Amino acid sequence: MAHSDSDNPQKVPRIVLGVAAHPDDLDFSSAGTVATWAAAGAEVYYLVLTNGNKGSADRTADPAALTELRRQEQRDAAAILGVKDVFFCDYEDGALEVTMDVKRDIARIIRQVRPEVVITFDPCMLYNADMGFINHPDHRAAGQATLDAVYPLARDHLSFPELYRDEGLEPHNVSAVLLANFTNQNYHVNITECFDTKIAAIMAHTSQVADPEAMKNMMRTMASRIGASAGVSLAEGFMRIDIA
Ligand SMILES: [Zn+2]
Repeated sequence: MAHSDSDNPQKVPRIVLGVAAHPDDLDFSSAGTVATWAAAGAEVYYLVLTNGNKGSADRTADPAALTELRRQEQRDAAAILGVKDVFFCDYEDGALEVTMDVKRDIARIIRQVRPEVVITFDPCMLYNADMGFINHPDHRAAGQATLDAVYPLARDHLSFPELYRDEGLEPHNVSAVLLANFTNQNYHVNITECFDTKIAAIMAHTSQVADPEAMKNMMRTMASRIGASAGVSLAEGFMRIDIA
């Protein structure tokens, strides 16, 4: 059943961790939710898994410089949204795999920041024929590795025992996961108040936005479509799993 916390500020989570493949992913999918919750007092953190060094159409782009540029864009966007800190791993853009190393890196951050809610991609989203869209393999890998890290790897003390032994990180139970999915959604967040903040965060990714006006219109169209099914003006939608 679809449900919404948008009019119930008591449901704002205390600590939120977003896990994504590339700088900008979380801002396109979830920045309205992040801004809304951060404004209501949530502590929000981002973890970006790849170096983002393939994200350019410029034939002269230097991959190392692109990594630095995109990380700074992500920090700038995070600052606009009220995100408290951004963590970066250094996996190669376009080559992210669901490995134990990736899962350990995600589990480490989960055990450090101890989120109530984790936001990531829905790894089930392989393609959408109606939208003419194939999901990026890094997005799928990030989503699957994050789900695996949430359950059971961050939770069980015998998983990655080195995280406790060497780093003193206690296991942690995440309460809920929000999976970003364009069409398959059971949970909506009213982002009407924070839509302009979301757009400002997306515009901070200067290297990724060729036509700001077209991008803004596209984001508004999508938020209106989701908002219509949530009974509000503008919304973001997710598949939410409350972990029993
Ligand atoms: Zn991406």
